[in-house]
Amino acid sequence: MIIRFRSNQGIHRIECNSDELFGEILEKWILQTNKENIDLDSITINGISGTNREAKCITNQSIKSLGLNHGDMLIIDYKENQATAKKLEESSHLTINKNIETNYVAPTGPLHVKELEIDIELDKLDGLIKRKRSSLCRHGDKGMCEYCSPLHPWDKEYQKERNTKHISFHAYVKELNHHTNKRSNGSSYIPPLSQPNFSISEKCPSGHEPWPAGICSKCQPSAITLQQQNFRMVDHVEFQQSSLIDEFLNSWRSTGMQTFGILYGTYQRFDNTPLGIKAVVESIWQPPQHNEEDGLTMDMNIVKEELKHVDILANQMGLLQVGMIFTDLTDAGKGDGTVYCKRHKDSFFLSSLEVIMSARHQLNHPNISKYSEQGYFSSKFVTCVISGNMKGEIDISAYQVSAYAEALVRADMITGCTHPSLAYINETTSQRYVPEIFYTKKNKYNITIKENAKPAFPVDYLLVSLTHGFPKDGTKPKFSTVTGFPWANRQLIGDSQDYHELKKYLYPVIISNNYDELQEKLSNFHLLLYINSLQILDHEEWLILVGLAVNGDQSMLLRLITSPGWQTLVIILQESM
Ligand code: ZN
Ligand code: ZN
Repeated sequence: MIIRFRSNQGIHRIECNSDELFGEILEKWILQTNKENIDLDSITINGISGTNREAKCITNQSIKSLGLNHGDMLIIDYKENQATAKKLEESSHLTINKNIETNYVAPTGPLHVKELEIDIELDKLDGLIKRKRSSLCRHGDKGMCEYCSPLHPWDKEYQKERNTKHISFHAYVKELNHHTNKRSNGSSYIPPLSQPNFSISEKCPSGHEPWPAGICSKCQPSAITLQQQNFRMVDHVEFQQSSLIDEFLNSWRSTGMQTFGILYGTYQRFDNTPLGIKAVVESIWQPPQHNEEDGLTMDMNIVKEELKHVDILANQMGLLQVGMIFTDLTDAGKGDGTVYCKRHKDSFFLSSLEVIMSARHQLNHPNISKYSEQGYFSSKFVTCVISGNMKGEIDISAYQVSAYAEALVRADMITGCTHPSLAYINETTSQRYVPEIFYTKKNKYNITIKENAKPAFPVDYLLVSLTHGFPKDGTKPKFSTVTGFPWANRQLIGDSQDYHELKKYLYPVIISNNYDELQEKLSNFHLLLYINSLQILDHEEWLILVGLAVNGDQSMLLRLITSPGWQTLVIILQESM
């Protein structure tokens, strides 16, 4: 259903269902207004049973219990203040994205109610592609014509010239917005994005019993046609240093067992494509896992618990989960370090099981967007595979799955298949209704045809491929040191994190009073997590350590080494073997 909000920002149409909390739809409205300085305590709502109410008193009530109906108009009034960003995070009334599946890896750490900085930055740019004067131009130096005027960031010809399959997310949003809200002076704004939802609605507007007791043309999900997604949420994955990959691969090198890791980093501008975004990977954290030669398993309850903790600490270092990475490597047995090439265009790139795993992770890391009617759209979580390329070299490939893949998985419509390039479509049951599903492809005469996707279809239709690389311009990574101190959860290869290792790594530089080297050694993700786990530093001392080690703030050095916590740590190291 739609609830309309009228304020001095105009009219906003918010899509919701009757079980949603008022706080949740208020969040969506705040995102759409794009106003950051609304004083949440001051919001009043007129139009609920004819009275004027304070919003903060009804955030935990459902739309249904407030007696709101489809199309209702609420008049919203508020005051502005200076420090709202902080309040939004602290406010206990407001919750967001409660309905995201949490059965895989739960969204951890503080939820992002606000769009990421990178999205706010790119939103302000027009992304126009400048062109030089061409030989067809018939005007003077200051003139401009159809051959030299700037192109839209989503320009199809430009894309074709550069041979790219995908435009960037922000180019895509700008294109949709251009068509949806053309010169919409005054008329009501329509959010250009909508997260596809293939689940059958639990409350049909016609009022009949929910599925499987009833279904009608209003609530029956319509047929789905799968197409390759023409945009990507993230364009490129950049590993800040090659030693990250090297050290990650050491687990496989020394045991022959496959391994899995979470990528921590940031999202930044990627100027190779108009309005592009890159995921910049600063560190890799391997959760507890049972590694085997042909794959691995994880106890997700343990992983979730540990990740929750690592996320909070990573956040304090200015990092968030940007994706995951895993190996699929088998030595070719030639004694020259080459590996089998298993993944190529005639086999598969990501298996159907991996596509489903990626979709679950993406659902757990929603991309907050004010341009979406739900307040979020798809995800910026990336999936990287390390496997053999056509030359038998160890190589990285980076992917995401499409917004349609997320919706198929969320509605429980597909299952992995023993044939890795195919996904099976599930049968309709009392729990789910599976409509007709088609996919389009070119036949041998190069004509686009629609194929029925049942019982199975190629998972390539759900994949989006990304480029990857290492920084070219010598950007300084957040962490100076990747190796030297053991990574967490690597007992399999005989690595463990303990006082002995800590002393070996840190004590020589502590007693030599070489502060530059000390700072460099402290700037190590895994070391920092380990020091935190010892609980010797108090919270303030920990933040001083992070300031020095991650942000390079040298004014923190003296404060750290004179702090009681640090001095206790040094004494423990001194006395340990
Ligand atoms: Zn011209
Ligand atoms: Zn119905």
